[in-house]
Amino acid sequence: MPFTVAIDGPAASGKGTIARAIARHFGFHHLDTGLLYRATGVLGGDPVEAARALTPADIERDDLRSAHAGQAASRVAAIPEVRAALVDFQRRFALQEPGAVLDGRDIGTVICPGAALKLYVVASDEVRAARRAAELGADPALMLDELRERDARDMARATAPLRPAEDAVLLDTSELSIDEAIARAIAEVARVRSG
Ligand code: C5P
Repeated sequence: MPFTVAIDGPAASGKGTIARAIARHFGFHHLDTGLLYRATGVLGGDPVEAARALTPADIERDDLRSAHAGQAASRVAAIPEVRAALVDFQRRFALQEPGAVLDGRDIGTVICPGAALKLYVVASDEVRAARRAAELGADPALMLDELRERDARDMARATAPLRPAEDAVLLDTSELSIDEAIARAIAEVARVRSG
């Protein structure tokens, strides 16, 4: 049985950095599932058709990290048929040996409810906005508005809203350095693997 780590949380909570570090440390595959929704959003046209036709090359486009792509992603992500079109790809990805880390919004609740470990990564709104502003070279106040708007939409949608799975381990990175957050997450994986 491959080992699956499901990581969810709001935008810029640190979940992507943590997911990449876990994958590197344990030799697992990693999928940033937000890229699937970002690519679907920026491709334009009918989002359901775009999601159904998505190719691995689409999620390697270099314009997917922008705030514009994030907003487009969060709008198409509220469409149930878009989400349905992306389920199989994510579940197949999760089945790879020796293990896989997937990060997103509904990994622990919908995509991989049987994951060996579920982490729900959070940070205060201000910390998240400051991180995203530094990353994109943007204004923190604008980033704060953008993140809050996106989180509200992601949490309020009817299909697969952002919320922690009941058995998720909460990791608040507001007061942690990147190295501290990574060390805690790796310790959680090691604890589950040895148990
Ligand atoms: O994680 P990232 O910021 O790249 O995600 C962009 C958007 O894609 C999110 O705001 C959310 O609306 C959507 N998303 C989702 N489910 C996932 C991953 C991302 O709905 N598993």
